[in-house]
Amino acid sequence: MICPSCERFLKGYNTQCSCGYKFIFRAKTEPFNDNKMKKLEIKASAFNTRYFTKNMLYSVFLKTSAKSLIAPIIFVVIFCGIFSAILIGALSYIGLIIATLLFVVAIKLVIKSNKPMSIEDFSDYYRRWVNAKRNNSYLVDKPKLKKPPANNQETDIFDYGADRIVVVDDPLFVDCLILNEEHMRSKALIVSQDGYPHYLKDQFKNLLEQAENMPVVLLHGTNQNKINMVQAIERNFNVKLADTQVYDLGYYEEQIKQAKSLYKRMRITKCTVDMLPYPLSTQLISKDKSQLQDMLVLGAAAATASYVSFSLADDFG
Ligand SMILES: [Zn+2]
Repeated sequence: MICPSCERFLKGYNTQCSCGYKFIFRAKTEPFNDNKMKKLEIKASAFNTRYFTKNMLYSVFLKTSAKSLIAPIIFVVIFCGIFSAILIGALSYIGLIIATLLFVVAIKLVIKSNKPMSIEDFSDYYRRWVNAKRNNSYLVDKPKLKKPPANNQETDIFDYGADRIVVVDDPLFVDCLILNEEHMRSKALIVSQDGYPHYLKDQFKNLLEQAENMPVVLLHGTNQNKINMVQAIERNFNVKLADTQVYDLGYYEEQIKQAKSLYKRMRITKCTVDMLPYPLSTQLISKDKSQLQDMLVLGAAAATASYVSFSLADDFG
């Protein structure tokens, strides 16, 4: 194993490196080691250039831990083939039955071994890492925008005009997007459905009143949907949204199942808003008005699903 502090290679499994670094994970019995976690964080932060959430880190973990099943399946087929030839030779029909059963069990085990670690288990491991203060400084773990940021970048948006409102279902993701300056890049007012951050409530209302049909783009995980989000927005921001201005670019389980490339990467169909590859979210929210219009005409769900398939042909970090 490698010490994440001095990067020295250590023989066997240790609890402490000679440089003084104390390991958080017991690499011998746990599926993690400290160096691996450090590297995951570096990837999630795009080499320390971008803020990330725990769910975004999990998404990177899912991708790095996905293995191809082709080699193990070929191995099982050859091994079971030879084994069944011997069994059938020795036991005839009974041999064939035993061989078939063995084959089914082996294939099931191979598929099971590729099942990803759950977000709950991953969170438990990561909590230990964060509690020991080993986490990367780009981690966003608490919503902090109760007050406007000191340099008040939100006012800058209004200097060149926000041309859309982006509403997400998780306040933490608002922090992450704003820290990464996605509001500047996509000229968007970014808020969460529960009225966070509070200091942007008036701007939300003003923007809606200033421009007719101001696009309101929704981004959400699979446990949310358009109807619930619109209701929450209208209640928490005290506004009324027209159906034609709402662009639901949120994630639905059926879409993930249909978007093969995405499912292959994730191996899960339920996800939170920040669990999908980060650049996908930001590309969705920064689409120009005509593209948003296309999505509305096509049906946002279908358009998003095909968009997801296309965009993931590229490798997302
Ligand atoms: Zn060390």
